Amino acid sequence: MEVKIIRSRRRRHSVSARLINDLLLINAPLMLPQERLDKMISGFKLKFERQKLKTELDKEKNLWDLASALNAKYFDDKLKIESIEYATNQNSRFGCCNYRTAKIRISHKIVLMPKWVRKYVLIHEMAHLIEPNHSRVFWDIVCRYKLTERARGYLMAASTSMKEGD
Ligand SMILES: [Zn+2]
Repeated sequence: MEVKIIRSRRRRHSVSARLINDLLLINAPLMLPQERLDKMISGFKLKFERQKLKTELDKEKNLWDLASALNAKYFDDKLKIESIEYATNQNSRFGCCNYRTAKIRISHKIVLMPKWVRKYVLIHEMAHLIEPNHSRVFWDIVCRYKLTERARGYLMAASTSMKEGD
């Protein structure tokens, strides 16, 4: 990502950023210290990179396809999923599921993990559509997937800073 900074005397406080193809155009006040501006630019870069990644990921319909296949295999096609998509701003969890809206978000961090682990993460979140808590019933559902224990071990080892999600 190339960065172009335009400093303007008329600007007093606000810094704006626009992404034009691969050029990050920054408008900043003339007197803003470079060090502060650099920090802000890193923030903008991160935000735009995440947006880009998310767009790319969503373009691949495979998340929806996988969820549909799992719905058929493990849930008798009974789950009504409103939406399932990748989230790039989810750093502490592998997935989350809103029980009421039936919207599932999956961390982009699992994209590069083996398929059997991704399946587990999806099944876990999908099972929350039936049971919002990590109850005995919940785990009975999830454990229909035979690789559940292995996948949980994998995820635990993959990251100590991330939780499985709720
Ligand atoms: Zn959970």
